[in-house]
Amino acid sequence: MGKAKKLLNDRFDEMVSTLQQVLRFNTEKTAALPGAPFGENIKNCLNFTLGLAASFGLDVYDCDGYAGHADLKGKGNEVLGILGHLDVVPANKDDGWICAPYDAEIRDGKLYARGAMDDKGPMIACLFAVKALKDAGITPDKTVRLIFGCDEESGMQCVEHYFTKMPFPTVSFSPDGDFPVINREKGIYQFDLACGKLPEGVTIFAGDRANVVPSKCVATSRKELPEMTCFQTQTDEGYTYTSTGKAAHGSTPNEGINATHRLLTALAKAYPNNLTLDFLVNKTIDTSGKRWGIALHDNESGDLTCNLGVLRTSSDGFLTATFDIRFPVSYNCKYMYESIRSNTPDEFAIIEQHISEPLHVPSDSKLVTTLMDVYNKRMNVHLQPLAIGGGTYSRCLPNCVAFGPLFPGEEQTIHMPNECISLENLRIMAELYLEAIYRLSK
Ligand SMILES: [Zn+2]
Repeated sequence: MGKAKKLLNDRFDEMVSTLQQVLRFNTEKTAALPGAPFGENIKNCLNFTLGLAASFGLDVYDCDGYAGHADLKGKGNEVLGILGHLDVVPANKDDGWICAPYDAEIRDGKLYARGAMDDKGPMIACLFAVKALKDAGITPDKTVRLIFGCDEESGMQCVEHYFTKMPFPTVSFSPDGDFPVINREKGIYQFDLACGKLPEGVTIFAGDRANVVPSKCVATSRKELPEMTCFQTQTDEGYTYTSTGKAAHGSTPNEGINATHRLLTALAKAYPNNLTLDFLVNKTIDTSGKRWGIALHDNESGDLTCNLGVLRTSSDGFLTATFDIRFPVSYNCKYMYESIRSNTPDEFAIIEQHISEPLHVPSDSKLVTTLMDVYNKRMNVHLQPLAIGGGTYSRCLPNCVAFGPLFPGEEQTIHMPNECISLENLRIMAELYLEAIYRLSK
């Protein structure tokens, strides 16, 4: 292992320049082409990465351009999977980037590029860790399989397709979350609720994504809403009100201010006895789900959260509300559906959108204890594994947890302008990945 560590360190500059090459592919999703389901750039980046892995002596497989893998063959039949992705969310250089998002420039010890942290940086670190093991002459018991997904950011078709062709690895980690280890992710239950007809002349619009707390809500009303001080305009048709709040991620709705709440409350007062308004105000203006009767809790992952993310009014006055519920790991989507159904008026239809079962790999499992030990020893800390309300790539396969790349307390730039990876952190994460792969593949 000493030899592998030395090889990894000696090749750090090569790792950085390789990462820069990978980052210079703009891998935003574009129109599908034959053999390139997510567009030409992603396909080219996958080809480049698999070609690199092949030049390192790994066995590579291109799964129809949806994903690919690179294997360091082990002695036995078991497989250690490392699941990451090459696609990125769009970056616009006019959003305040200090250098163009696909130039991959280094400034003050940081490498700036879309995808630097999410997820090319950590995947290239893992690739070089595997190369170091191989070149040190170590043959692991498990085959080490680096899986490069190409559609993590926009629908996960990559892994869906890949796992129809390939078996699930025995055990896996995904370097697409946080250090030390995320081993509990709440279930996700996003749905539209067709919640009836609004009073004549009332319309309400807010938000465009279930998983964001809406920061703006616009409503019209024939009547004036007496207690509303928010911005309003008046026309012959009636009044238009705009209320503002504070956006936050839908998995942490109490960190935001939902712009719909004040307007719904005022409308419900102005129009008493409207089932739709009464329901929304009395049941759903509460991010814990308590008033709705759907609150849940467990010791492993805490409380259920409920975000009212979108409100839309049809031309004939029917309101659809979109909710994003994150429920504790001890429950499942079926339980969630039944709980919502029995606490909601029968005439309101529930239309499931994105739903995903929770992820729970026990804290005392060998996978989690090994990764925690690798992290705590190297960083000289005594941290515990994490539970989150968000969803990471790990939940696409069984027996997988997230391991890095974001360090505790590190500034978060993923999906934001000036995404960057500190070279110092890249060096440390490569060492962590090397140790983790070595120990988990034994
Ligand atoms: Zn990612």
